[in-house]
Amino acid sequence: MAKAKILLVEDSKSQAEVTREFLERNGYEVDWVEEGKAAIMKARTQPVDIILLDYVLPDINGNEVCRWLKLNQHTKGIPIIMITTRSSTKDKVSSLEAGADDSLPKPYNEIELNARIYACLRTKALQDELRQKNRQLEEMLERVEILAITDPLTGLFNRRRGENVLEKEFNRTVRYNTSLSCLMVDIDHFKKVNDAYGHRTGDAVLKEVAELVRSNAREIDTVSRWGGEEFLVLLPQTTKENGLRFALRVLKAISHHTFSGISDKQITVSIGLASVPDSSIDSGEKLINASDLALYEAKRKGRNRVESA
Ligand code: GH3
Ligand code: MG
Ligand code: MG
Ligand code: MG
Repeated sequence: MAKAKILLVEDSKSQAEVTREFLERNGYEVDWVEEGKAAIMKARTQPVDIILLDYVLPDINGNEVCRWLKLNQHTKGIPIIMITTRSSTKDKVSSLEAGADDSLPKPYNEIELNARIYACLRTKALQDELRQKNRQLEEMLERVEILAITDPLTGLFNRRRGENVLEKEFNRTVRYNTSLSCLMVDIDHFKKVNDAYGHRTGDAVLKEVAELVRSNAREIDTVSRWGGEEFLVLLPQTTKENGLRFALRVLKAISHHTFSGISDKQITVSIGLASVPDSSIDSGEKLINASDLALYEAKRKGRNRVESA
């Protein structure tokens, strides 16, 4: 176990020497400074486990040092024991109010000082442990939140997230009177891929298609896996014209891509596009339905094509 480091703030050299000798005898590592500002500087720049703070100092008094250290994010976790000749209740209260964890009248009893240091360090260790557990919990929560919105196969957003974003983007589009394009992208004859090459190859193709769609989208767009081999793409601030341009780009990227693992190396998709503003579309659900219908039309007209509502 490493020795606990005590920062001793004491302007009397003789007192400091006595205290230091006692603390070192009790297994602590001691760093000594004579002034308040030096104490703040040390606490900010060096690892300190506990501070023994004399109230009367040549520059700023102990309460001010204490207040500063407890307000500072970096030093507020360091326990402070105020040591003062002023032992009235009022003085004790004021040092506690300044943020001191404990206070002790001067001259102090060494056994009592030792016990109080030990108690402060024990509390600090518990607090550190709590803080660490908290951090672990937060990290875990973050991972869970990511898992809850992610499709495990493709790494795209899942349908639930897609639905949430649709709702939000639709409302935003109406509120700010801008445009929103919605694409339903469905792989053509995907069942045949599975039948001919197996589910594993099917999965690999799905991943590649997902990546091709995603890499053609912008940062502000949302690509989610809507169903088995079907993807929903939301393009905020995108008119039907520009949505069509994007859809054609995706169509081309996929049909020109070489898919390994399947003999003719070719995969195509069909895309249904719907956009707002559109007088017949007044909800996210209607926007989806319209792009679904357009997709159906693209399939009916022979696939590997875009149809718009
Ligand atoms: P269409 O051109 O009309 O869309 O034909 P299709 O064969 O793509 O459409 P259909 O809806 O008949 O079949 C979809 C297939 O997608 C069937 C299903 O087994 C497959 N599929 C769905 N999810 C997955 C998946 O996660 N992995 C794999 N490998 N296949 C999947
Ligand atoms: Mg289908
Ligand atoms: Mg399909
Ligand atoms: Mg489908």
